[in-house]
Parts: sequence; structure tokens; C-alpha cells
Amino acid sequence: MNARLADIFKQVYLELRPSSPTPDFEIRFFAFANLNNTIRLRRGRVLVRLSDLLEGAPDPVLRAIVHILLAKLYRDPIDPLQAVRYRKFTGSRAMSARMHLIRQTRGRKRITGPRGDHYHLEEIFDDLNRRFFHGLMARPLMSWSENHSRRSLGHYDPAHNTIVVSRILDHAAVPKYAVEYLVFHEMLHLRHPVRLRGSRRCVHPREFREEEKLFPHLAEAKRYLKHSLSSQQR
Ligand SMILES: [Zn+2]
Repeated sequence: MNARLADIFKQVYLELRPSSPTPDFEIRFFAFANLNNTIRLRRGRVLVRLSDLLEGAPDPVLRAIVHILLAKLYRDPIDPLQAVRYRKFTGSRAMSARMHLIRQTRGRKRITGPRGDHYHLEEIFDDLNRRFFHGLMARPLMSWSENHSRRSLGHYDPAHNTIVVSRILDHAAVPKYAVEYLVFHEMLHLRHPVRLRGSRRCVHPREFREEEKLFPHLAEAKRYLKHSLSSQQR
């Protein structure tokens, strides 16, 4: 195993969980088709794969992504500073150029971009941003999902700063307010990061729910998504 990565893992683990011993782990770079990073637990062993696009990244950036992954695994809150540090690096010009090249040369894309057959997610974001946030929110990556997921209609991925909406909603029969509501909900997740209340994760805190009420078609949108698609949303 890469000694530099192993050291970083140990340091970050100790910062996040100072009172527990470091578990058995394996951490390595992996040639994903995209800027992917994964973490999973198998038989008590923590397995981490970092995109090989990060191989040349400075230590603080690697520490940031390891922090994000470990926090996700253990459902700890992600330190916003680490999220910003990671995003800054991956959003840099040099990184975008490398990613573009990799996408062309390696496998298929996991996300498909903001332009659908019926709805354009960036246009929807920009419009909501103007209407509800004085145009002040920085737009994350917006993408339709690759598959027609009913299980997850929308989610915000802080590690990759991406809002993904299920392609199932990119249809003429789907009312615009339903797509707008999903994007609006995920925008609120950007504004209200997951917090811990006691030992409970608070995904939709009170301020979140209050702000959500500003959406004019809230009840219809929820009803539509619940009955027409019978699915969940994160
Ligand atoms: Zn949510």
C-alpha cells in the first residue's frame, strides 16, 4: 500500500475519531472512468479507492477527500472547510482539463449533463436562484441521472458538488413545478448542510423546512412525486 496514503488515512482517522483505534484498512489510487472516490466497509476492514486523477494532488487535498469519505462512512458531519478545499482543487482549470481527457479515453460517463429532452437543469437552477436566493447561490454541477431511477429522484453530492435529478422526470408529462421543487429542495441541502443533533443526523433541520415552504407549489409537487412516481427523495 502507498505509504503516503496510509499516513494520511491514519492522521484523518485520528482527527475524526480520536478515541477509537484505527481499523484495518486499505487505501489506494484506482483508475475510475471519472473523478470517483469510494469507501466501504468489508468484514471490519475499511476499503478506500481514490481516483488516480488525485495522484498528483497536494497532501491537504488528499486529507480533505479522505475526511469527506470517512465522515460519510461514519455519518459524521463533513467539515465545510474540507469540502471547500476539495471542491476548489477539483474545480480548478487544470483538473477540468484532465477530467475531460479521461472521460474521452476511459469508459462511459456516470452523469449526463444538465440538458434533457424537456427540461434544462441549469436553466431551472438559475431561475430558482433568481426567484428565491437573490441570484447569490453558486451553481454546482447539474446533471440528469444516467438511468431512470425511481428510488432516488434527486440528491446533492457534496464531495462532487453535484445535484443529480432522476431522468425519469425529464418528460413532457411531468409538470415543471415538480422538477423545480426537486431542484429547489436540493438547493436547500446546499444551504443547510447535514448536522448532528445529539447523536442523530439532522438532514432536514427546522430552518430547512421553513425555507422549503417558500416554494409556491410545495403541496402539489410533493403529492405529484408521491403518487405519480411512488418513490423517495433524499
Ligand atoms: Zn432532502
